[in-house]
Amino acid sequence: MWPSMCCNSRVLTDFRKGPLIVKVLVSVKRVVDPNVKVGVKSDGSGVDIGNVKMSMNPFDEIAVEEAVRLKEAGVATEVIAVSVGVSQAQETLRTALAIGADRAVLVESGEVPEPLGVAKILKALVDREQPSLVILGKQAIDDDSNQTGQMLAALADLPQATFASKIVVADGAATVSREVDGGSETLSIRLPAVVTTDLRLNEPRYVTLPNIMKAKKKPLDTIKPADLGVDVTPRLKTLKVAEPARRSAGVKVPDVQTLVEKLKTEAKVI
Ligand code: AMP
Repeated sequence: MWPSMCCNSRVLTDFRKGPLIVKVLVSVKRVVDPNVKVGVKSDGSGVDIGNVKMSMNPFDEIAVEEAVRLKEAGVATEVIAVSVGVSQAQETLRTALAIGADRAVLVESGEVPEPLGVAKILKALVDREQPSLVILGKQAIDDDSNQTGQMLAALADLPQATFASKIVVADGAATVSREVDGGSETLSIRLPAVVTTDLRLNEPRYVTLPNIMKAKKKPLDTIKPADLGVDVTPRLKTLKVAEPARRSAGVKVPDVQTLVEKLKTEAKVI
């Protein structure tokens, strides 16, 4: 143990150097690339993602960036990226490693589990890895659930701060600014804790070729949900997926006066 240091397994406090957190666990979901336009399968059973470009969920890129910044600032010592899903999620994890995560864990399942299944898996990994901080995206852009972080915090009985736009770690606590209606709220939560990221938290770095090459050599373990004792049998049944209603075409107006006239007489909004 370092001199003048008191510790539990998750938070070390060096009384000469200030606080340190040990591990940051960060979750990354493989989703359809945000620039790709997807369509619904002809039988209405789901969204057709065959042969479309997949990427890391944008909120998770922000989560990895924040974890790596904590490490670069000397606040955290290790960043572990986790993904739950099909074997191709390894590529997503390699991206997290190229951003700067130290190692990765793929929990491979045939289908991507529902948020509750993912939260149970993350809870099992929290028990195994004992991180000081778990950072997730506020939502996955494919299911828009915004549930996993909150469910994980409940299952693991950890404090949570969602929609973070700023995170400061000091003295065994995280001070988190979060965007709320009409302003910003600042919370202090004891570590270990769960934080979910909002868009304004940071701007993720570009991944460089040398770092992509380095990432290939970093450790990536693959396990199954059963290895963690987690049952991810779905609890929800999708009844139907439909395209949004098509918007009718707009009209061009020759001048402002006609526009105002139309807003008054046709749209009746002024
Ligand atoms: P959701 O609750 O589905 O909107 O997802 C919120 C966050 O939970 C995401 O931004 C990810 O950080 C995490 N998450 C959800 N599903 C997965 C998954 N299959 N693998 C890894 N992380 C996930």
